[in-house]
Amino acid sequence: MRPEILFPLFKPVTTLKGIGPRSGKLIEKLAGGRIVDLCWHLPTGLIDRRFRPSVAAAPDGAVATLTVSVDEHLPAPNRRLPYRVMCSDDSGSLSLVFFNPRRDYLNEVLPIGAERVVSGRISHYGREIQMSHPDHIVAPEEIDSLPLVEPVYPLTTGLTPRPLLRAIREALAMAPGLPEWQDAAWLKKNHWRPWHEALAAAHQPAEQAVLEADDADRRRLAFDELLANQLALAMVRAHTRRLSGRATKGDGRLSGAIGKTLPYRLTQGQETVLAEIRADMAEPQRMLRLLQGDVGSGKTIVALLAMLAAVENGAQAAFMVPTEILARQHFETLTALCAEAGVRLQILTGRSKGKPRQEILRALQAGEIDIVIGTHALFQDDVEFADLALTVIDEQHRFGVHQRLTLGDKGRAADVLVMTATPIPRTLTLTVYGDMDISLLHGKPPGRLAVDTRAMPLSRLEEVIAGLQRAVAGGASAFWVCPLVEESEKADVAAAEARHDALGKLFGDQVGLVHGRMKAAEKDQVMEAFAAGRLKVLVATTVIEVGVDVPDATIMTIEHAERFGLAQLHQLRGRVGRGGQQSSCLLLYAEPLGETARARIAIMRETDDGFRIAEEDLRLRGTGELLGTRQSGFPTFRLADVAAHQDLMEAARDDARLIMERDPELNGERGQALRVLLYLFERDAAVKFLRSG
Ligand code: ADP
Ligand code: MG
Repeated sequence: MRPEILFPLFKPVTTLKGIGPRSGKLIEKLAGGRIVDLCWHLPTGLIDRRFRPSVAAAPDGAVATLTVSVDEHLPAPNRRLPYRVMCSDDSGSLSLVFFNPRRDYLNEVLPIGAERVVSGRISHYGREIQMSHPDHIVAPEEIDSLPLVEPVYPLTTGLTPRPLLRAIREALAMAPGLPEWQDAAWLKKNHWRPWHEALAAAHQPAEQAVLEADDADRRRLAFDELLANQLALAMVRAHTRRLSGRATKGDGRLSGAIGKTLPYRLTQGQETVLAEIRADMAEPQRMLRLLQGDVGSGKTIVALLAMLAAVENGAQAAFMVPTEILARQHFETLTALCAEAGVRLQILTGRSKGKPRQEILRALQAGEIDIVIGTHALFQDDVEFADLALTVIDEQHRFGVHQRLTLGDKGRAADVLVMTATPIPRTLTLTVYGDMDISLLHGKPPGRLAVDTRAMPLSRLEEVIAGLQRAVAGGASAFWVCPLVEESEKADVAAAEARHDALGKLFGDQVGLVHGRMKAAEKDQVMEAFAAGRLKVLVATTVIEVGVDVPDATIMTIEHAERFGLAQLHQLRGRVGRGGQQSSCLLLYAEPLGETARARIAIMRETDDGFRIAEEDLRLRGTGELLGTRQSGFPTFRLADVAAHQDLMEAARDDARLIMERDPELNGERGQALRVLLYLFERDAAVKFLRSG
């Protein structure tokens, strides 16, 4: 249960004065729907009204605060022309410009003959000096009520600065003082203020420096968030560890048999990680291990051999993947690999229904299935295993920590192996996995030809399409990825549909389309047709990013490559070059190319080492991109900037470790405050794992 002291922060923004359903919706879209979300919505700029020139000296484009006397009102002659209020000081005249104003309001705030202080942006029209719709108009004696420096917040279409500013002020006023959860010595060392003060200060930037990531108040807020993240992960880990583990030692009977039928030998990298995993499984503690390996590095066979150790031991293994397509693909691959060895495999997805599903559940519970491959459907409560010893989770960042644990709980202290194809930098590994043990799968199976990567401006589209026609005529299969359009899946789909139609005119029914708005079954059908070679060109949005294996596809064209992050480009490129043939990747970009996009493309051309690309990505753009799409399942930080606050991340990890050593149940004074912190950052799930919590 959320502590009462936090209740005001979690009320909907519509409970604020002046926020109705309409602006409430907009704020929700922008920042989130609760008061706390407004608190986390930090300013990105400021308006400095301290500049107080004379009228004649007020430069075009500047924000200025001027003291003038009101000379004359010139009402608008018609609706399309503005209402003007002529003012002046000793140096010259200023016209205040208003479109569709309320006249009685203007008469009231700008009475003729009075002196007024007006603040706003200056524009020069020929010789006329104007200020249109001043931000503030006050009498000279009220000058103190004029905010000399105002924060500027990110906005969204339809929402103007004023109501947002007001809402944020009110939200901050509702923020309670909270018990200090940070270590006193650490606070002192960093010169950090209490949470409430730091929050208020971050929203009242007096100088540009306050807006920077290295500002002390911003760092404190970021550290709070990172500590909540690290502490939650540490608690989950401690909980998992507390459950007793089991020692799983395979006798090599099945893996040996399968090894013999494999058309290739394991690479050195595969041997190494497999040995690490097997050794860990053989230990009596529970395994919680992350296998990080680039696209195409051959993780699937490693997973299979690890699962076989469980099966050789008379137990079961579960292999979980994020999508239906992948589940089926893995099921087919593994079935083929296991054909000779008599391993019993089954697939369970959201599409398993009714009688067949019941039969699978029965067989799982009876121990008649050795390895089950599936999606989220494996989490359902009625799925029970006879004896689950190992859970493998592929592409895990799409699943939450909670799900990871649920499946772990289905076995008697089942070992957990998490696999990710997204190489992520060390700091990010920390935020996602906390202190997991890590195996790195380096290198790629031999004989792979590097993907020939080129960049070309979109202005050469016709040429590119002609080249594609020649390649397809020669038997090639190609992906064509359409860009991500900010904030709108609808727009993505429209772009992909348009490209599909255009290519359809040339390629006829050899062109297929997949996008995120299609039903799973439809998507699968198209993917299958492409994998089987019935479709030669597959137009797609980034739904193909994860794991899909079509070894015959040799061409990857990415339209508007400049809009993709490096990690994404790398993932997409990894879809080709999986078979023995020379593949190519074409990055089509719109001109002019920005500096970051140029650097990204250069790195793509230079290397295909996913780990290096991930580091470069973090360096170039911060996490935004890496974590990018919301659905990626990475924790999205509101206050911390993973690139700028790397040092804090490590400190938070160390602090979380120390807390778990000293007060694992969070019972002490600081422990109690830390509970509030966890709730504040909505790491509630972790609190469940406290015995007394
Ligand atoms: P990922 O790590 O991206 O999941 P996969 O496991 O799908 O990669 O492997 C990519 C391809 O490499 C598959 O077609 C697989 O059969 C093949 N492969 C895996 N290991 C080897 C190896 N040691 N030698 C040759 N090919 C391999
Ligand atoms: Mg894979």
